[in-house]
Amino acid sequence: MNDSRDKDDNQWREKLTPQQYEVCRNKGTEPAFTGEYNAEKAEGEYLCACCETKLFDSESKYDSGSGWPSFYAAAENACIDEEVDNSRGMARTEITCSKCGSHLGHVFPDGPQPTGLRFCVNSLSLKFEKQEES
Ligand code: FE
Repeated sequence: MNDSRDKDDNQWREKLTPQQYEVCRNKGTEPAFTGEYNAEKAEGEYLCACCETKLFDSESKYDSGSGWPSFYAAAENACIDEEVDNSRGMARTEITCSKCGSHLGHVFPDGPQPTGLRFCVNSLSLKFEKQEES
């Protein structure tokens, strides 16, 4: 048994809702078009739902039609790791928070310019911080 890992796991179970835990820690996927931030258009920052590291800016968010929040770029200095994911008979690239290892979603090479990338992210993996009105 790995005690520190069990301790972390209990911590996540306490902090996250069961739905968040399933996506973030078990690499689940929320059903399309159900996420809180799918249609969100306000300005602000998207943080990791688990450790609150900044991951995306609202400027790079766009409507991909996929049913999940989509971004064409990660935030500057964002801590995002990429890993080959061959599960479910598909060759995909998984994206995770490099600080806490939380599952975020996948990145695909079919996004808009200037990057041509589509970061497809579960709303449950994110925490939106709306910019204060000035
Ligand atoms: Fe994190």
